Amino acid sequence: LTAVSVAAALTLTACGDDSGDKGSAQSGAKGKIGVILPDTKSSARYESFDRPFLEQSFKAAGVQYDIQNAEGSTQRFQTIADQMLTSGVTVLITDGLDSNSAAAVQRKAKAQGVQTIDYDRLALGGVADYYVSFDNVKVGEELGKGLQKCLGDKKANIVYLNGAPTDNNATLFAQGAHSVLDKVTNYTKTAEQAVPDWDNQQAATIFEQMWTDKGGKIDGVLAANDGLGNAAISILKKNGQAGKVPVTGQDATIEGLQNILDGNQCMTVYKPIKQETDAAAKLAIALLSGQKGETNGVSKDTVGKRDVPSVLLNPIGVTKENIKQVVTDGFVKKEELCKGAY
Ligand code: BGC
Repeated sequence: LTAVSVAAALTLTACGDDSGDKGSAQSGAKGKIGVILPDTKSSARYESFDRPFLEQSFKAAGVQYDIQNAEGSTQRFQTIADQMLTSGVTVLITDGLDSNSAAAVQRKAKAQGVQTIDYDRLALGGVADYYVSFDNVKVGEELGKGLQKCLGDKKANIVYLNGAPTDNNATLFAQGAHSVLDKVTNYTKTAEQAVPDWDNQQAATIFEQMWTDKGGKIDGVLAANDGLGNAAISILKKNGQAGKVPVTGQDATIEGLQNILDGNQCMTVYKPIKQETDAAAKLAIALLSGQKGETNGVSKDTVGKRDVPSVLLNPIGVTKENIKQVVTDGFVKKEELCKGAY
């Protein structure tokens, strides 16, 4: 592909996405909603769930919209935002790669009278009018509780593979997990590292180093999402220890759920993403119509020292025992989950 045909393909994607153009008959909303998702690699969720669910909501409401993915590049994130602002977006929803670049985009939007919503990740020091997410400390508590359930009360050395240091959620996940595990006197934290960009390959390298450093004396792995968990499991497999050392995860991805069915992963955190996209879409549509959004709490922006009005949803810890729920909920299809060996 030449640079020109790539650019053409990108433009086509953008236009293809813009299928809400038909008008605003149903909602009476004027303007256009822009959404920027962070990447395609740190989790399967963004293209599998967030995008199609948001599309569904916007189409049903008959509002104009444009959903783009920054594909892990802060530069692309900014370029997309600039294009959206130029093309008349009036409400901008961002799931930032890091607080600084997302906050910069929000400031630019605000200067042009565009209202902004932080989606899933809070941009610290930003100016978003609202925040929609799961209760991310609770996500961390579910991780901690899940690992504790798998480990029991025996003496255990625990290592932490945290999410990206630039993602405020990763801080909250670790905080929640520590609040549970630090109370168990038989557990010792022997290593803790943040994985840049939630990169699964780096996670494997980091975990392999931990395994070597500790001479294999690791009894439990608090991994912040399914991708990081799978990275740890791949190293445990290499060492013949998969299934013996419990590993946590998040997002209820097919890979994570299959690791649970295989007995190699202790648990995952299921976040019904439809609830999150529904809340974000509802809020954005209210703002388009000149109304205020409904919220159920506030979130602390520890850098900007402000409370951001928020919609915070409830995450669900999933182990082998209640894994069926993700299927009965329609989050994953049974055939997809159970294909092959299951
Ligand atoms: C999201 C998780 C996701 C992670 C990596 C976090 O901010 O809340 O669902 O697994 O980023 O993309």
